[in-house]
Amino acid sequence: MSKQTLPVASLGFPRIGRHRELKFALEGFWSGKLAETDLLETAKKLRAENWALQRDQGITRIPSNDFSFYDHVLDTAAMVGAIPAAYGWDGGDVPLSLYFAMARGSQGDGPADCGHAHHGHGVPALEMTKWFDTNYHYMVPEVSEDQVFRLTTQKPVAHFLEAKALGIHTRPVVLGPVTFLKLAKARPSTFKPLDLLAKLLPVYEELFRRLAEAGADWVQVDEPILALDLTEGERHAFKVAYEGFARAAPGLKLMLTTYFGALADNLSAVAALPVAGLHVDLARAPDQLDAVAQAVRADQVLSLGVIDGRNIWRADLASILDRLAPVVSARGAGAVEIAASCSLLHVPIDLDLEAALDADLKTWLAFATQKLGELATLGKGLAQGREAVRQTLDDASQAIAARATSPKVTDPLVQGRIAGIDASMKTRTSAFEARRRIQSAAIRLPLFPTTTIGSFPQTSDVRKARSAHAKGTLSYADYETFLQKETETAIRWQEEIGLDVLVHGEFERNDMVQYFGEQLSGFAFTQHAWVQSYGSRYVRPPIIFGDVSRPNPMTVRWWQYSQSLTDKPVKGMLTGPVTILNWSFVRDDIARSATCRQIALAIRDEVVDLEKAGAKLIQIDEAALREGLPLRHEDWQPYLDWAVECFRLCASGVADGTQIHTHMCYSEFNDIISAIAAMDADVISIETSRSKMELLDAFRNFEYPNEIGPGVYDIHSPRVPEVREMTDLLSLARERLQDRQLWINPDCGLKTRKWEEVKPALVNMVAAAAELRRVA
Ligand code: GLN
Ligand code: ZN
Repeated sequence: MSKQTLPVASLGFPRIGRHRELKFALEGFWSGKLAETDLLETAKKLRAENWALQRDQGITRIPSNDFSFYDHVLDTAAMVGAIPAAYGWDGGDVPLSLYFAMARGSQGDGPADCGHAHHGHGVPALEMTKWFDTNYHYMVPEVSEDQVFRLTTQKPVAHFLEAKALGIHTRPVVLGPVTFLKLAKARPSTFKPLDLLAKLLPVYEELFRRLAEAGADWVQVDEPILALDLTEGERHAFKVAYEGFARAAPGLKLMLTTYFGALADNLSAVAALPVAGLHVDLARAPDQLDAVAQAVRADQVLSLGVIDGRNIWRADLASILDRLAPVVSARGAGAVEIAASCSLLHVPIDLDLEAALDADLKTWLAFATQKLGELATLGKGLAQGREAVRQTLDDASQAIAARATSPKVTDPLVQGRIAGIDASMKTRTSAFEARRRIQSAAIRLPLFPTTTIGSFPQTSDVRKARSAHAKGTLSYADYETFLQKETETAIRWQEEIGLDVLVHGEFERNDMVQYFGEQLSGFAFTQHAWVQSYGSRYVRPPIIFGDVSRPNPMTVRWWQYSQSLTDKPVKGMLTGPVTILNWSFVRDDIARSATCRQIALAIRDEVVDLEKAGAKLIQIDEAALREGLPLRHEDWQPYLDWAVECFRLCASGVADGTQIHTHMCYSEFNDIISAIAAMDADVISIETSRSKMELLDAFRNFEYPNEIGPGVYDIHSPRVPEVREMTDLLSLARERLQDRQLWINPDCGLKTRKWEEVKPALVNMVAAAAELRRVA
């Protein structure tokens, strides 16, 4: 090892390309416009660029096999032959068509624009779910009890050799076998995927042998489940797996890689494993440093994940150096390496692309490319001493000091309002039962009122008008007129089919978080800072950099316009504070809960203004409340406490007669039902149609008193449900809830659907309500 630097590791680099090259290539290929060879060529170019970039930035442990056409968990499933029979695999190589069939189904797909992602309508794609507590989604592998695993593709070897041919020695990344099985789903669910471990290990052993033959010395084996609560059996699985690997591939060094949280009670089990190195996340869990440094053996390499791979802030390099210097001198330079906390997959690629970003803010940020530079500085500083990197350290310290004292960050008015929050601001005036009586007199709705969740189809006309307006080719006035026409048509149509509570349709919104972020102070938006959400779908999360406030009403004008068109009540439509928080890059200088409280006050202002304007029903969506749950169970309650508090804070500024609705996307409710009840929304709509109303059991068992709109049809599918299907579902709902509690609505917003699907479906839904009223 060179004296110039400690080993410096990147655990993975974004695969999407600086200019989203991968997305465009994939979508071109899927639509038949791009040949497979061209797709392969684009991918190869991206890999080469990423390797060269990381090398040039001073990374000495450069990852390979972090590239994926769609998802690294899917890659692993394909690699080990976990390919369900439905895909008609012949047992040979896994062609791209088969791989994409698992990812997207074989006849097109309809991913919803719903925050959490789905693949629907009977297309045999694998299920998709969130990767730990990130906003990245992976494909859930399926395994059967008689599963046969085989090394089917040798992508890790091929990519290692590809880099080698370019003169770059890489450290291949593979998803570890225990995490792979823990994330997999048993089909049928009569056994535990982890029972298959003994069958899976030989595949990994063969892979390791082949990597060693190809010339690899280190392999990064990701086992992020080590940051979760594990059973004894699961911990034992690590022992079985890694002792086996030590025997099967004795020459190969494994860097057992953990991230997204502390090892905590898994540390002693991990420390006993015969692996050559251990990587820990010191951005999420800085406090584990001492315990880990003690537990790791002297002959092991400790990889210190100090640069935050999950957020976009510039690091305080000088203080990181101070913290690490004693560890390095105690262990010796040969037993330490410096790394990002996790793969850089979760951050945008390059800050330099952001020409329009506020100049001060820009100096406070570091995207993936800048983070590589930070890592290199640390490696050099720790090997050669601080003086060698003095200028870079000083620049970083200065930027951090400027950020800490910037008036762009701290707003005394917001601070004052936060200090003034009291208990009365978090409680409605009267309890639900009293509110219900006042509301039903004021709003006058039939039994089983019908409504929708908010958005109507974002047609290509709507998207075209928005982008023309953004480009400046459609004037503000013309864009407004266009949106008013869309809204009016939607209102007229809802009246015509007889819905009871109308929505304005959300045609003016690009996205349920961005639309609000753009109107709030303390938020910044980027032009090119894309992050992979799943497959070829990337998002640009807002950056919350300062105290949040709402300078002006955000939605009141649209609500007023819509209500002026009709005598039926129109719901005000807002996104809740927890959801805005969970789908943004958040500040690291104050607690998440503190930012959430500020957003809650801003939304509260909007709720109050909507009420003043005359809105009698106001919906505050909390789609991401459940997905924000921490990874460790013991952290759930503190999170739920402040999340619920923030919802109440934003919802409690109104009179008893104003009906507060909320909406939550597909969630389990059993384990959080008391928090849901504590939100005290007058009406909650939830996704239930695919669970056959079983999700309502949690509400029944809890004797949940408020009103509920269980979704009666799956909006992720283009299929138009029959009246009968919905009345059947509603009978199941009536077995679990009282009639006076029930609302009738679809599962979620309709923005990803077409009008041809939405129209007959809602006509049928209204008919189902009428039928129910007849028999009830
Ligand atoms: N009001 C939003 C819509 O209808 C809610 C979407 C969501 O919660 N995911 O699109
Ligand atoms: Zn939803």
